Amino acid sequence: MKIRILAVVLLTRLLFSCGTSPETSQEKQLRRPYSLAIHGGAGTITRAGMTPDREAAYTAALDSALIIGENILKNGGSALDAVEQTIVYLENCPLFNAGKGAVFTHEGRNELDASVMDGSTQKAGAVGGVTTVKNPIKLARAVMEKSPHVMLTGRGAEQFASENGLELVDAKWFYTEERWKSLQKALEAEKKESKTGDITDPSRRDYKFGTVGCVALDKNGHLAAGTSTGGMTNKRWNRLGDAPIIGAGTYAADDACAVSCTGHGEYFIRYAVAHDVWARVTYTGETLEQATDYIVNKKLVEKGGEGGLIAVDRYGKVAMPFNSEGMYRGYAFPGERKVMIYR
Ligand code: ASP
Repeated sequence: MKIRILAVVLLTRLLFSCGTSPETSQEKQLRRPYSLAIHGGAGTITRAGMTPDREAAYTAALDSALIIGENILKNGGSALDAVEQTIVYLENCPLFNAGKGAVFTHEGRNELDASVMDGSTQKAGAVGGVTTVKNPIKLARAVMEKSPHVMLTGRGAEQFASENGLELVDAKWFYTEERWKSLQKALEAEKKESKTGDITDPSRRDYKFGTVGCVALDKNGHLAAGTSTGGMTNKRWNRLGDAPIIGAGTYAADDACAVSCTGHGEYFIRYAVAHDVWARVTYTGETLEQATDYIVNKKLVEKGGEGGLIAVDRYGKVAMPFNSEGMYRGYAFPGERKVMIYR
């Protein structure tokens, strides 16, 4: 009798915790028909520092982005399409540090990074340091689907974009006055307070990241993740953050979860944050909530890495932890759609 009970327990554990097992009909029943989460960056975002107009503008933009992704998923579209189109909207919105509205480099340019990963094939595409591609997330997808590579940077990435018919714009398209002022502030602070040349020096930081990201689960049980950013204000030397790095800022695999990160990229690269979420869920049997909470609120905090992430697991459960004051974020699944900013 004892042996039979043990066998049943072991079998159940296997079915529910082994990330690579095919989906059972019971698991299918537990899965939401679709699920979507977005972020628009984490950082020093407090009620006190926000005006009602600004709050309304961010809330409306995040809600519109969610509606775009949700409509695709509701109509049977793929997680990958939902992620791409949602991010395109956020890239075109000047409120966020991605596409139009991207932060400025030390030299006063906008250098954009993006990545995307398809959880059903584990194919991925990424671009770094592009300056004239209107929607870097589209280029990341083109790299994934139309090139034999995962990551292209700089001039080569621009050439690939033009060969593949992606929309190119004058570099001025990305300009916003607010981000330009942030750069001037950072340059002033740098002159006064720091002679170290260390970009991680807190005196140089724009205390508000603004990267955008999206994760989605579609009706076929496929997951996808994407992230797009202008990086960090006053970055130099063709610095790349975590956003274009698969495993750091973005990761997706159908057997467990899809993840998109925002925050101080150097830390997310060092601790391979997006992949670490997948690994903890897959190898330890932790829930998405447990895994993401451990990484963001314990591991990153101990190391000094500020930021957050959004993640969706293969059942459509969403986790959105962050260790900064706020994170622009939202989620949608059947019966519920919600946007949040503060803690
Ligand atoms: N993670 C981005 C980077 O380091 C910045 C951000 O999330 O706002 O480039």
